[in-house]
Amino acid sequence: MIERQGNRTYWTWLAVVFVVMVCGLARPHEADAQDSKAAQSPVKKQGTVYLTFDDGPSKLTPQVLDILASNGVPATFFVLGESADRYEDTVLRIVNEGHAIGNHSYNHVYKELYEDFMGFWNQVKRTDDILTRITGKHTALLRAPGGTHTNFDASYFKYIREAGYTIFDWNMDSGDSKRRNVPAAEIVRNVKQAKLKDEIVLLMHDGSGHGESVKALPEIIRYFKDKGYQFAILTDRVKPVTFSMGPSKWKRSWTESQHEQAKEAIQKARSGEEWLSLREWVDDKGTVEWNSVTREALLQLEGKSIRLVPSDGQSVLIADGESSGVTEPMFRIENNRIYILKSAAGELFP
Ligand SMILES: [Zn+2]
Repeated sequence: MIERQGNRTYWTWLAVVFVVMVCGLARPHEADAQDSKAAQSPVKKQGTVYLTFDDGPSKLTPQVLDILASNGVPATFFVLGESADRYEDTVLRIVNEGHAIGNHSYNHVYKELYEDFMGFWNQVKRTDDILTRITGKHTALLRAPGGTHTNFDASYFKYIREAGYTIFDWNMDSGDSKRRNVPAAEIVRNVKQAKLKDEIVLLMHDGSGHGESVKALPEIIRYFKDKGYQFAILTDRVKPVTFSMGPSKWKRSWTESQHEQAKEAIQKARSGEEWLSLREWVDDKGTVEWNSVTREALLQLEGKSIRLVPSDGQSVLIADGESSGVTEPMFRIENNRIYILKSAAGELFP
């Protein structure tokens, strides 16, 4: 009798040990880390909120930056190329104050962006050139105007990802662009009524006409701080938030030649080895002078003078002091260096 009980205790123990081992093995490491964190502090679970501002910069953006600075909170700005061009100083301020910049197309005109992929791509590229010129850095973050749902199709996703972009939609909407002039109180209420998640990508706007979003911002920040959230910028290492792909509302035909065109454009943008440092390429055969006021470079080589405008990738041939013939070789600036597309260099100086 006693022996049988002892036996049963032994088997029960063995079963318990087995179950504990299996559970331990099956549980992902992440969960372990979270558990031990929770064990250390009985406070609310720490989540992360990524504040995102679209359609700027505008005259309102400096106010947004002031509020972020006084709260010690970083954010991500999905800017339009045409606005970045207009408010260069604000773009620089965004970067210098530790916030992130993302690409939000050049002009936000849906028809131009979604009727044809190359329309979208050319705006992304143009905006990238502008941002690279201003900040000296390429951004790999992209938000589709209006979001990807019903705008992107599988090919849009494929090519934009192949080009190296990380696409971010959002999983919380402040509702500040539902209609014109949504009052600050309503924006705050929308945020407070939204379901909380561990990782929140919050959509807001800092384009012109969004003064109410600026007014709502301090209370939104306070709300997330009170809930124990930390604030962070989006990077290409943050898990992307993308909407499910709905049926496209655009009538697009993807012909074989359109696919070829898209592939070629993406390939051209990607391939690093096709870009040559202009100064290294010119070497001692000629000279390159950078004019920081006009933001143009003057290349003199083999008796030719060529004015390079990296912001739009164009160049102008100058003969006898007169501008003649606009060519379209590609130039770009990265880390304050001008790069020339290898094939373009070949065209200029065959
Ligand atoms: Zn937008």
